[in-house]
Amino acid sequence: MKMKLSLLSFLILLGSSGICLAEDLVPDSARAYQYLKTVCAIGPRISGSAGMQKQQELIENHFQKLGAEVRYQEFDVTHPKTGTPVRMKNMIVSWFPEKTKRILICCHYDTRPFPDREALAINRTKPFIGANDGGSGVALLMELGHHMNKIAPQLGVDFVFFDGEELVYAKGDKYFLGSEHFATKYRDSPPESFRYVKGVLVDMIADRNLKIYMEKNSLRYASAVTRSLWATARKLRIKEFVNRSKHEIRDDHLPLNQIANIPTCDIIDFDYPYWHKRNDVPAACSGQSMAKVGRVLLAWLDEN
Ligand SMILES: [Zn+2]
Repeated sequence: MKMKLSLLSFLILLGSSGICLAEDLVPDSARAYQYLKTVCAIGPRISGSAGMQKQQELIENHFQKLGAEVRYQEFDVTHPKTGTPVRMKNMIVSWFPEKTKRILICCHYDTRPFPDREALAINRTKPFIGANDGGSGVALLMELGHHMNKIAPQLGVDFVFFDGEELVYAKGDKYFLGSEHFATKYRDSPPESFRYVKGVLVDMIADRNLKIYMEKNSLRYASAVTRSLWATARKLRIKEFVNRSKHEIRDDHLPLNQIANIPTCDIIDFDYPYWHKRNDVPAACSGQSMAKVGRVLLAWLDEN
């Protein structure tokens, strides 16, 4: 009897303290999918466009409502086609701002100007919505924002949305404008009050047929981060994280690893049939896929 009572009071205490086990943190797949639809309903979100500005307002409002600090890192680039200046904005959303050692969770939030992998030339001039490529990272981080007060990491967390990942019109145009600016700034004028100890980039994580292999540059530069993420996925029995490498991908994690020296893993499903095609739309994506990646990230953050 005594035993039962103390167990009961322990459970009540556990419930009322708001503590929950990280393994039980399950993102809401329907809500994540709704966020993806909302982002894509804006239309193309090319760097410097009206669509991008709408998306910035959406992201800022969303995270301010959830209690995070939101700030912009702004800079100008020359438009590769017109030669006019384009205002670029990386967005930084901070959780646990008092923590001096921090983790970077990032994605790109611009969309490629055109679906240039379409077979017919006429289709390569049509609008590109970028649901998986550009939208899925945003939708997942918006969903994760609802869970950040349930985890208790030792480290602070910054969500960073990189602009200009692919403001690309022709061969030779530069990729990774936002992440390169962010990494160079971090290296050349390091922040006084904190430093980043590791990072995770998410890109194209909403494929209905999700399969995520360890990415080769991630293993090269951020082996411990990569292996610990896959270990968390194994513990959670999330089989979509396949325990071997396949692709070598150039993505926003390269500047972070090579310039800023922040070991950063790229979680990316590169076997997506609609990559840079018109059919990269919400119907090709899955809320469950995003939620699976989100579950791994939340449990992994809680362990850090
Ligand atoms: Zn792309």
